[in-house]
Amino acid sequence: MTPPIATLPRAGADPARGPDPSGPTSPRDPRPGLSGLTPDELRAWLAVRGLAAYRARQVADAVWRGLARTPEDLRGLPRDLRAALAAAFRVDTIVETEVRLADGGRTAKVLHRLSDDRLVESVLMRYPARAGRRERDTLCISSQVGCAVGCPFCATGELGFGRDLETAEIVDQVRDAARRLAGEGRRLTNVVFMGMGEPLLNLDAVLAAIGALTDSARFGLGARHVTVSTSGVVPGMRRLTALGPQFTLAVSLHAARDPLRDVLVPLNRRWPVAEVVAAARDHARATGRRVSYEHVMIAGINDTERDAVALAELLRGDLAHVNLIPMNPVAHTPWLASDGPAVERFAARLRAAGIGVTVRRNRGQEIGAACGQLAAERAGEPPPAAVDRRRKRLVAESAAALRGERSPAAPGSAGEAG
Ligand code: SF4
Repeated sequence: MTPPIATLPRAGADPARGPDPSGPTSPRDPRPGLSGLTPDELRAWLAVRGLAAYRARQVADAVWRGLARTPEDLRGLPRDLRAALAAAFRVDTIVETEVRLADGGRTAKVLHRLSDDRLVESVLMRYPARAGRRERDTLCISSQVGCAVGCPFCATGELGFGRDLETAEIVDQVRDAARRLAGEGRRLTNVVFMGMGEPLLNLDAVLAAIGALTDSARFGLGARHVTVSTSGVVPGMRRLTALGPQFTLAVSLHAARDPLRDVLVPLNRRWPVAEVVAAARDHARATGRRVSYEHVMIAGINDTERDAVALAELLRGDLAHVNLIPMNPVAHTPWLASDGPAVERFAARLRAAGIGVTVRRNRGQEIGAACGQLAAERAGEPPPAAVDRRRKRLVAESAAALRGERSPAAPGSAGEAG
């Protein structure tokens, strides 16, 4: 029987680092974030204080159009109301932001400090206009501090799980980027939930964040400009399908065969490949929207002819597109990124089967743009002996997977029996 989402492990996914190395070092500010309130909640808060409903519109304008950061930025409101709002809510849930630029300024990797000193990351990527497409500014955001899924090629997975983000902590990453872009006369065009965390394990907050981002009275982004990425939380995927929103679903697949996917995405032991792809297929049928499949390319592990054939068979005839992403070489794994010819051979095999493929470039690699790398840097290096144990375990598990054998789940991982 499939265990409920709530029973997934909530502590450090990899014993190499131990539980929750990212904090906290301070108590969390108990005031909710102002940007996390729905218009109804804001009106109700004002009504209790005998204030007119039109004030809700003014507050929302200051938060979403004015991108307010401090109580002083809540312009046009009476001083008493500003003070009352500041006492009850945080105008911005991000305490501090550090920006590192790469790719000639076209990629900005951003580390956000929250009220409890936890760190989360967002990445702003600017794409110039080309081939009939307008220029785009895409922001990749986090939905959790750390992640319980524990994919071994991912720096966030190695950090382990910290906590869920509140709705305001999610949308304030977007307001932060919008503020920076506004200074250059630009607007954010796309938001992707592909930063730290598994969005479907924090689904209520993520749905509320999407509601705020796509509400024309708040951030006003078109639903089709939002992508939600999952490592395969099937109940969450089915819930999204039932809700019927028009945003894009992306599935971090990384392997089409269960023994290998058990190693690369430990959640596969709960929801295996066939169940994940069936849920994605149903989503595509119900919404008419193409599903994106992410496939990180690891030399000699999941980039072989056999893997390409298995993936082509799995997705043949589906409303699907595959993104091939060279593995970022920084994580503590024994593996290397696939080289260019291997990626091209893999892509050609999929194209020959009629499947659309994009080969992605790893943007901002020199600043550690893969999710979790800056936070991992701050958490410090895990002990060498633990890294060595982790590498040996991954070598043994991937060798077994290449022989078609399934390995038992690592202790504390998302795939462990709960
Ligand atoms: S790749 Fe995504 S799901 Fe996997 S550990 Fe990293 S953040 Fe979590």
